[in-house]
Amino acid sequence: MKIYNSLTDKKEDFKTNNGKKVNMYVCGPTVYNYIHIGNARPVVFFDIVKRYLTYKGYEVTYASNITDVDDKIINRAIEENKTEKEIVDKFASQYFNDCANLGSNKPDITPYATDYIEQMIKYIKNLEDTGYAYFKDGNVYFRISKIGDYGILSNQRKEDLIAGARIDVADQKESPLDFTLWKNTDVGIKWDSPWGKGRPGWHTECVVMINDIFKEEIDIHGGGTDLKFPHHENEIAQANASDKTHLAKQWMHVGRLQIDNQKMSKSEGRTIWVKDLLENYPYQAFRLFILSSHYRQPINYTDEIMNQYNKEWDKISKAYKQAYVSLAMAGNTNKELSEEIKEFESYMDDDFNTPNVLMLISNIIKKINTKIRSKEDFSAEFNTLDVILNTLGTIPVKPVVDAEAKDIYNKWNEARVNKDFEAADKYRNILVEKGII
Ligand SMILES: [Zn+2]
Repeated sequence: MKIYNSLTDKKEDFKTNNGKKVNMYVCGPTVYNYIHIGNARPVVFFDIVKRYLTYKGYEVTYASNITDVDDKIINRAIEENKTEKEIVDKFASQYFNDCANLGSNKPDITPYATDYIEQMIKYIKNLEDTGYAYFKDGNVYFRISKIGDYGILSNQRKEDLIAGARIDVADQKESPLDFTLWKNTDVGIKWDSPWGKGRPGWHTECVVMINDIFKEEIDIHGGGTDLKFPHHENEIAQANASDKTHLAKQWMHVGRLQIDNQKMSKSEGRTIWVKDLLENYPYQAFRLFILSSHYRQPINYTDEIMNQYNKEWDKISKAYKQAYVSLAMAGNTNKELSEEIKEFESYMDDDFNTPNVLMLISNIIKKINTKIRSKEDFSAEFNTLDVILNTLGTIPVKPVVDAEAKDIYNKWNEARVNKDFEAADKYRNILVEKGII
């Protein structure tokens, strides 16, 4: 299996630290608002990564955090005259609802940053003791000059970054690239520390949670491509300082989602919240849309494209249902898979080539329909379709085919054969009502 590694800019054979065990971490949201469909792309994609690795026999532990301390949360709390905890509780629970409604399984571990403050203080203290951090005017900064390969992930040279950095006149830092590990603050929630009252910086949160949960370099670290710099670059710099690792063997980044070929923008009204989208479309249609572009490429959302995938999903789920009911009625219990399963694996093994998988799904459905017409056994193709759709988390509804349903189904067929259209219509309506056809 090959996966593109953002750290080396190469498609590489997927290698783990411990055989079939995979430790995976994906940066989660700062919970100060609802999530939009751009945030949903990694939520859907990394859910599929876990599903597929599990399908391949890996035992995946998936962690994704909640950032519950940040200026944005503090500002929203002030605006709404609420406590920060009220804001966090509201939007974290909405986030988990949205993820579930997108068809994504909840990660195995969902750490909240503020549950790790003690470990963060210890971690920063250690960086300070070893010369990788320095204290100035209440804040603690990371010393970038100590990291030789800074810029490795985002392919930027340290000198160029320094030359291009904005220098604040009031800046007390040794280098404009140095980032805040501990922030002295007057507003919002704060904790006691060796450097006075304050709170940790965002880049430190993820590193400390990863270390605390997994205890070693992890196998996969993921996130949106907008997190590459500075967030992930700074995570790597800290791991380099504290553990002499790049934090993860494999770095994966999901491309951005645009609306009408433009960047999503709240001020210009170009934001679609997940909760609103899912009022108009089934989650499976949105997942098909996400899968229609390779995960590293940007993806463009328009109502027209979304409607197209809605129709596509309708086609897939109807074909699936028809095949399922017909096999259930015939009492066909064959569990074999068809040859297409190898094709599915070859696409997924090639850095998650999901656009090709969507074409394969169309081909399988065509094949099933041909076989239905020629009265051939299509159970193996159906089983393969079932495995693929489940692995993509795009799961069709299976109607309940009980004895009563079978009886009506047989009567319906009989009436059709006898050209008793009135009776056929009556039975057909019952079957439609029961969701069987
Ligand atoms: Zn992070």
